[in-house]
Parts: sequence; structure tokens; C-alpha cells
Amino acid sequence: MAAVEFIDPQLPAVTVQNIFCIGRNYAAHIAELGNRPAAAPVVFLKPTSAILHDGQTIELPAFSTEVHFETELVLLIGKGGKNIEEASALSHVSGYGLGLDLTARDIQNKAKQEGLPWAVGKGFDHSACISKFIPVEQLGAPETLVFSLNVNGERRQHGETKNMLYTVPHIIAYLSQIFTLQAGDLIYTGTPEGVAALHSGDHLVLSLQDVLHAEFSVA
Ligand code: MN
Repeated sequence: MAAVEFIDPQLPAVTVQNIFCIGRNYAAHIAELGNRPAAAPVVFLKPTSAILHDGQTIELPAFSTEVHFETELVLLIGKGGKNIEEASALSHVSGYGLGLDLTARDIQNKAKQEGLPWAVGKGFDHSACISKFIPVEQLGAPETLVFSLNVNGERRQHGETKNMLYTVPHIIAYLSQIFTLQAGDLIYTGTPEGVAALHSGDHLVLSLQDVLHAEFSVA
């Protein structure tokens, strides 16, 4: 059973329910992969078995030769709902974290070419790296957050949530029209540009401004 924690160890861990992911949510990343912007958010899911926690070691899957990092703001749903209005959507979020939507790009590209689903390229073990979470009361509104990824000490990704094509309230409202959201759901909100392959021995540091950091090493 997968669970996530808050940065404050006094707060209870939360059992993870569904893991939703949004694709193509930053224009510069859409361009770097040669994709077109979507008319509605691109949605896919990962199994809870994909979760890897802050401080743990990423084991790259043997079936891929090109596993990309994608650094993303992750929402923790604290209150479930169906057909949630955008105006009240933020009241359903209990925490903000950072994650890596690890992607076997070679497998995903083949699936895209053949019109097949992305479950293998997106849902393998360790593909949902996740930080601890900041309680929403300690961070405020999500519209102007800045986050980054350093690999081996070098800045590789820089994200600003103001550049999201679909805002956090819109994502929550949209998903809840299709899926009943549950307390404990995670929502990966899409990656900015700069995605690239991981290599054995890489050391990754994710930062959300100066309030949250997470580290992962690649075996
Ligand atoms: Mn992604």
C-alpha cells in the first residue's frame, strides 16, 4: 500500500489512491517533443506500485534504453468529489509536492506511432518519483510557483506554474467530470521543457522555491 507524507512529521501519512497525470501542459515542452497542443488536457494514469519516495534509488527498467525525467508539480487531493467547480477546486487540495513522471520515451514513442496506450512507457516501477508534501496552508495559491530540477549539480529544468496551459483549478474540474476524485489521489500536472534521458549514477535534486527539496539517485 503506497502512502505519501507531509514535510511535517506530525501530520499523518496519506494512503495514495489513484495517480492521475496531465500531459502537454507547457507550450515549450510540447514543442520540444514535436507534439501539438491538445484541445483538452491529455490524461493518463500510473499504478500506485510506481511510487518511489524522496531519498530512494531509481532502478531503470531493462526494457528501455531511454528513460526521461519530467519534473512536475504534484497535487495531493484532500477532499474528493465529482463535477467539482473551478471556483471551489482549490479547496479539494491538501498539499503540494514535486514529482518525476519518469517516461520510457522509446516505448512511449513506439506506442504513439502505433496508436497504442502508454501504460508500459509511463507506469513501470519507480516511474512515479514523489517528494514529501507541503500542507496547502503553508504555500497558498498555486498560480505563481517556481520549481526546478538539478542533475549532477547542473540546472536541467525550470518550471513556472503561471506558464501552465491548463491551470490547477481547471485540471481538477476537468478530471472530476470523468473520474470521481478521492482523498489520497495524486495529480501530476505536466512538465516544462528540458526533458532528457537519465543515466546510471545520476543524482537528481528537485526544488520547489526554497520550501521543498527531494533527491533521487539512479542505480
Ligand atoms: Mn509528464
